[in-house]
Amino acid sequence: MSLLQRIKRQIEQDGPLSVSDYMALCLGDPKAGYYTAATPFGRKGDFITAPEISQMFGELIGLWCVSLWRKIGAPEKYTLVEMGPGRGTLMSDLMRAAKIDADFVQATDIRLLEISNKLRKSQGETLKEHADKVGWIDSLEEVRDHPAIFIGNEFLDALPFRQYVKKDEHWHERMVGLQGGKLTFVADVGIYPEAGLPDACQGQPEGTIFEVAPAREAIVSRISRHIASHGGAALLIDYGHCQSGFGDTFQAVAGHQYADVLKKPGQVDLTSHVDFEALERAVQANGKVDVTIVDQGRFLLEMGLLQRAGMLGSGKNTGVQEELRAAVERLAAPDQMGTLFKVMMLAPHGISGLDFPDQ
Ligand code: SAH
Repeated sequence: MSLLQRIKRQIEQDGPLSVSDYMALCLGDPKAGYYTAATPFGRKGDFITAPEISQMFGELIGLWCVSLWRKIGAPEKYTLVEMGPGRGTLMSDLMRAAKIDADFVQATDIRLLEISNKLRKSQGETLKEHADKVGWIDSLEEVRDHPAIFIGNEFLDALPFRQYVKKDEHWHERMVGLQGGKLTFVADVGIYPEAGLPDACQGQPEGTIFEVAPAREAIVSRISRHIASHGGAALLIDYGHCQSGFGDTFQAVAGHQYADVLKKPGQVDLTSHVDFEALERAVQANGKVDVTIVDQGRFLLEMGLLQRAGMLGSGKNTGVQEELRAAVERLAAPDQMGTLFKVMMLAPHGISGLDFPDQ
């Protein structure tokens, strides 16, 4: 039975599914989930991520990790955790750039948090050279009680989120139900207490949608607790907004095009924009960790994107130089990934995530 048929049957038996449960099934179902069963990345896949656009992305993150590791006192025992490593490209580029600091490489113990067995295999293949350092984890609970540097590119957006919709003067959870045999959005019959939502939700017009992502907040909160207790830092990159707002950001992508979120469950990528303000609040609740959020374009330029492109292109033919120019543009230009994507850095009080090394 297809995932679509199973979802329909479940709705017939138990009633509508929350957006969060629907997304978790579509992405993580062991047999037919998008991440567990499909091959999503790259030029031939459904979407292309920054590490797959250019090696420079992972290399500059590598320089950031080396710099932060030095700043936290160059601990000999520490873990480099990557969440949702895709094909392992970012980690491979990171480790190559990190060779500028042999002590860092020596100290690094890599743990990959990955839901898909298929992708775990592909990560192992890409990271063969570092096989003695690499291991996989199912949860951040497994990260040892040492300092840890956490990184993740387009990981948070893939974690399930919830939506609430204003209808008949009340807020209701937005659900996926069935109408005429087709999946459709419906408002939950129960009223969601306005007291459980931010003040800004009061007085909003009918049809307004508000999103929350407890799973993302829980992860970020867990990371900040780890940094506060054991030391470390984090670099989380995703598309989203720096101020919480209203609106439906649930989206599906297939074959590099936007698709319908309710059609072809398991065969399209589902994400929503990350609300960085909510994540910042989750970190601040901890009280011991500082947060810095900048646009991806600014982060990469300050880390030396142009210099790196210049080095890689030097003495090469115009085809290679043109490819590098296009990659710089794609990663950093404001009308491309430069401003939509944000970089959130966490570091212990007094250590700035933004103090870039000299280039
Ligand atoms: N960072 C990579 C891949 C981004 S796609 C890149 O930039 O190319 C999201 C990644 O997160 C995939 O590797 C996916 O399998 C993984 N993932 C999604 N949900 C997850 C979960 N709940 N736990 C662990 N990994 C997850």
